[in-house]
Amino acid sequence: MTAYAPPTPARRSPVRLDTDPYLSRYADRVTGLAASEIRALFSVAERPEIVSFAGGMPDLSVMDLDAVADLTASIIRDQGTVALQYGGGQGRPQMREALVDLMAYAGVPATADELVVTVGGQQALELIAKCFIDPGDVVIAEGPTYVGAVAAMNSHQADVRHVPMDGDGMRMDLLEDTLAQLAREGRRAKYVYTIPNHQNPGGVSLSEARRVRLAELAVEHDLLVIEDDAYGLLGFDGEVATSLRTLIPDRVVYLGTMSKTFSPGVRSGWIAAPTPVREKLVLLREAADLCPSNLTQLMIERWLTTQPWQEQIKRYRALYQHKATLMLDALASEMPAEVDWTRPRGGFFVWLTVPTGIDTSALLAKAIGRRVAYVPGRGFYDDGNGGDQLRLCFSFPPTDRIREGVSRLAELLHDELGLLRSVYGDDAPELAGRRGGGAGA
Ligand code: PMP
Repeated sequence: MTAYAPPTPARRSPVRLDTDPYLSRYADRVTGLAASEIRALFSVAERPEIVSFAGGMPDLSVMDLDAVADLTASIIRDQGTVALQYGGGQGRPQMREALVDLMAYAGVPATADELVVTVGGQQALELIAKCFIDPGDVVIAEGPTYVGAVAAMNSHQADVRHVPMDGDGMRMDLLEDTLAQLAREGRRAKYVYTIPNHQNPGGVSLSEARRVRLAELAVEHDLLVIEDDAYGLLGFDGEVATSLRTLIPDRVVYLGTMSKTFSPGVRSGWIAAPTPVREKLVLLREAADLCPSNLTQLMIERWLTTQPWQEQIKRYRALYQHKATLMLDALASEMPAEVDWTRPRGGFFVWLTVPTGIDTSALLAKAIGRRVAYVPGRGFYDDGNGGDQLRLCFSFPPTDRIREGVSRLAELLHDELGLLRSVYGDDAPELAGRRGGGAGA
């Protein structure tokens, strides 16, 4: 038997790696993966007495369930042998045609041939990462960015460089700095990942001027852009912004999802990509899971061709606007002056920045003790930032509990700040907010 040699500890892993007897067998890309310590706290956050602003979920209470029940039953009756059979790896042509109509509603041009149907936007992110990232490759992303995208990029050992945002989305001057820094290192980014509309978790959108600038920079620096449009149709005012795909179609791999405008339970998303990339993605997806579910594709086809789906999107928008207003009003009246937050005009999230002396990961256990939950900021960065930030989701919690939850969190932050003041005095740097950093509006 060979002697047991303790492994080199993987980056950011909170578990003791030498307790895992399978360690010597894992692929390099898996060694660094570990469940976060806060995952256990989230199972507690499910308890009814807790107001949870943690999970980023749609509120399905306004979904027309009778319509979905009827169309699902009729699919099984009329097309059961198709619905329950294997399908093609690219997705059903009829599904892709229906998605082209949905994209047109969002102002994004595409043809059915350019699309690959995926198992949610999450599989799209994973396939894109697999398609482009070798270990150590640089990827540029907003800071903070979607935690599932960080997970997908990490599982392919990307070197993620974050570019901060302000109220107008990713800062183009800082993107230019990052590109210049990469040039000095003799490296180039495999892609720039961006969520331009109602960003998760930042709750801000990329301004029209910055979209144009990003397109110019992409041409100037020969960049590929991954445009994650999960929330594009959820602007409270119903307006849709200019997509990057419209501006620079050959340089954009676009992804969409049915999770926010219909249902996450159907696990349906898609990618629109230039032909050579689309061909690779279909091969990768066939290796992963052969094909998307025919049953859920048929559900979406019928939803998008026989039902007033635009009305459903309007119902979601109105509900989320109402909930966001409740949350923003409660934050304005309850939060300490040292706390800063974004003012979303769509999507699911508000992003908070607290004084630097407060660690939002450590604070979560106390928050749950006070019957309120959020997601600490660190998970939205790959570089250890975000300790003084947190995400609140307004889309899912019940309308009548939003103020109560914000009050509980505000009370906790008032108490923490009082504690800091009593230890360090009024002017301590620990009490300073991080204005201008993160996604401050
Ligand atoms: N992208 C973004 C920005 C998201 O917020 C989400 C869901 N939280 C996804 C992609 C993936 O969602 P799904 O797999 O349900 O489509």
